[in-house]
Amino acid sequence: MKHYENFVNGKFSPSGSKERIEVINPSTGQPICTVPESNASDVDAAVSAAASAQRDWAKQPAIERAKFLRRIADKIRQNVEPLARIITEEQGKILDLARVEVGFTADYMDYMAEWARRIEGEILESDRAGETILLFRQPIGVIGGILPWNFPFFLIVRKAAPALVTGNTIVIKPSEETPHNAVKFCELVSETDLPPGVINIVHGRGPTVGKALASSARIGMISFTGSVETGSAIMAAAAPNITKVNLELGGKAPAIVMSDADMDLAVKAMKASRVINSGQVCNCAERVYVQRKVADQFADKLTTAMKATRFGNPLVDESVEYGPLINEAGFRKVDSLVHSAVKAGATVVTGGKRASRDGGYYYEPTVITDCRQDMEIIRREVFGPVVPIVTFDDIDEAISYANDSDYGLTSSIYTRDLNVALRACQEIRFGETYINRENFEAMQGFHAGWRKSGIGGADGKHGLYEFMQTHVVYLQRY
Ligand code: NAD
Repeated sequence: MKHYENFVNGKFSPSGSKERIEVINPSTGQPICTVPESNASDVDAAVSAAASAQRDWAKQPAIERAKFLRRIADKIRQNVEPLARIITEEQGKILDLARVEVGFTADYMDYMAEWARRIEGEILESDRAGETILLFRQPIGVIGGILPWNFPFFLIVRKAAPALVTGNTIVIKPSEETPHNAVKFCELVSETDLPPGVINIVHGRGPTVGKALASSARIGMISFTGSVETGSAIMAAAAPNITKVNLELGGKAPAIVMSDADMDLAVKAMKASRVINSGQVCNCAERVYVQRKVADQFADKLTTAMKATRFGNPLVDESVEYGPLINEAGFRKVDSLVHSAVKAGATVVTGGKRASRDGGYYYEPTVITDCRQDMEIIRREVFGPVVPIVTFDDIDEAISYANDSDYGLTSSIYTRDLNVALRACQEIRFGETYINRENFEAMQGFHAGWRKSGIGGADGKHGLYEFMQTHVVYLQRY
């Protein structure tokens, strides 16, 4: 078994702690490798490296910084297959999806590099004679990135690419579930001439390494993707230093299926949305509202589709449609939400239990009908291959059900009626709405949750500007 280290100041360096985290393959329950269970001093050393690198990094023209991003993108493209295999082994997604993740990550790096010539300030009209007011956009300094495990490789770059092109440096804490891909990322970075300290990676647990990063007085912004509970803890840790937070949190995406919808399209989209990455995606349809007239027909078709879904160890059988859940805790959460729905009167039409395969954390593809708005399965994020269905009578009811949630990340509606689609867009209170399709979002969009789904957002121009602060200069002529 291999033992990996942190990546600080351009080198793989041992942690001050002797403790190690064993990385587990969720498809088999077997260990893969270890990374350090780092401590607060390791975070401090990485922040120091990032802070001293930042001064020179920010002095380079953005177009020069962008060249490094493109070089890293090229390295990623030359390593799609080994990277995809690492992601699949430690996270459990199917290889094709892992390949898509790696390819998208390289494209995202190039996309953010393109912004180098497009970062703009503003010239503002003054109230005073002979004065010019200039608004500059400047880097924040050192960014702290804290990552989840579900798209672990892409999330490194979703934080690092906008941070770097805008003149910041970064310290990243990968999820303790999926650190191996981050090690490989650092190997690729070290094959380029990126100056030391611009990207640093510290492995470890949330309450130690994550907390030390969020509470560091030398971090200018914490960009976090993960659960609502952790987002709240990070805000609290950042509060004493008034550190800016950028939070991409959980979702409970509603999908509304109107009776005039293309039923086959809606079923196909819903199944894909629930089985992709074993249902562990923040913007997947987590609760499905179907108009009463077509509810039975929809549930029948979806049940047939879900029953036919093949799952298993994605490294052994490349034809499976989904792999295991991330770990035993993930499995227990999904199972307990399904049981609580049944206890509250819902009906499991198919699935609803663990599948014993190879010692991994597999859950059967599951469809649950007779769900109600007050059930836990409709209110809490499930993160598994489970579709809970609620019926409604008219669009008013569907919109009020959709909006009745602590979460506000993504939403979708299936209809052929443009008026209904437009009405949903105007009245659904979510950061994103998909019409007649499910996820994913575009890199030129703006992925930003309402309510407890987050603060700020990622991607596109608006995501880029999250990594900059303004500086207004008043230039008075004699
Ligand atoms: P998590 O919140 O458990 O962990 C995320 C990261 O936070 C990990 O690196 C963890 O070590 C760290 N952490 C834990 N406690 C911490 C603390 N006290 N201080 C600082 N850091 C701490 O989330 P997860 O289980 O890894 O990921 C799943 C969640 O992420 C889901 O809720 C999902 O919806 C969400 N997610 C959201 C988006 C989005 O774009 N909105 C994208 C992907 C995942």
